[in-house]
Amino acid sequence: MSERLKEWGYDGPESEGVARVVSAHGDYFHLICSEKPEGEALARTKSSAFRDMPKPVTGDFVRFKYNPQGESRITELLPRFSFLERLDPSSSGMKAQTLAVNFDTLFFAMAVNGNASAARLERMLALAEASECRSRVVVLLTKCDLEDAKGLVEEFKSFDVPVLEISSLTGQGMEAVREFVQPRRTVAVVGSSGVGKSSLVNALAGEEWMATGEIQEWSGKGRHTTTSRELVMLPCGAMALDTPGLRELGIFGMDGFELKGRLGGTHRFRTKG
Ligand code: GDP
Repeated sequence: MSERLKEWGYDGPESEGVARVVSAHGDYFHLICSEKPEGEALARTKSSAFRDMPKPVTGDFVRFKYNPQGESRITELLPRFSFLERLDPSSSGMKAQTLAVNFDTLFFAMAVNGNASAARLERMLALAEASECRSRVVVLLTKCDLEDAKGLVEEFKSFDVPVLEISSLTGQGMEAVREFVQPRRTVAVVGSSGVGKSSLVNALAGEEWMATGEIQEWSGKGRHTTTSRELVMLPCGAMALDTPGLRELGIFGMDGFELKGRLGGTHRFRTKG
């Protein structure tokens, strides 16, 4: 059996007919699979199979019918071993919006000179708890070359979650980050736009694979540019899942919303302007 899918994080018994979604473009999904010769495929979902099932997102493992001549068909969404989701603010019902799936570690990035706060961290952890993935959260205080982070680190102590002080610019803290970035493991990076998510992934990749904001140099006043989600293989063999900025997704930008966890608990989110 080909090792390819295992390298992409699959640890099931048989990888034949299984693939991982590395990007989604409307109805089309770019898949990594063990099938030769390319080891990848372009696929659409089989509509009858997905009538009552959520569509795959980047990071998902799926079952599919390979067509070497053309379009392959996704027939099944495989169970997610982790996920982060929230209530879709645009739906009136209780529809969940999936933010990231199948990650081993969830990096929650906040800029030391920007939006880092205990309130923000608390909301994020409530969201992670509702998605049953709190134990996977690691806080990244980014842009530590711009400001001292000691005060925030002290403030965050009570949350009982790892807090790393980093700078993608100087390389500060990257050793600690790399401990969570291991072969065959997936890290998801979430956080508001401009906090330095793409810069971090670029630093881990050691090259410019993803456009960082063509923003006011290294001033800390980043604007948002990341628009699509992509699962990227890093040179060390780990995968990074970049996600859109949370503000765009509405997590922190709303007046308040309720989120029902899988375990039945309800979390009320409020933002202060
Ligand atoms: P994203 O929207 O979260 O992906 O943020 P980007 O990676 O695009 O970065 C936003 C802005 O912050 C850009 O101008 C980056 O150059 C800048 N930036 C990112 N990381 C650092 C850092 O560690 N230190 C400093 N000073 N600036 C950074």
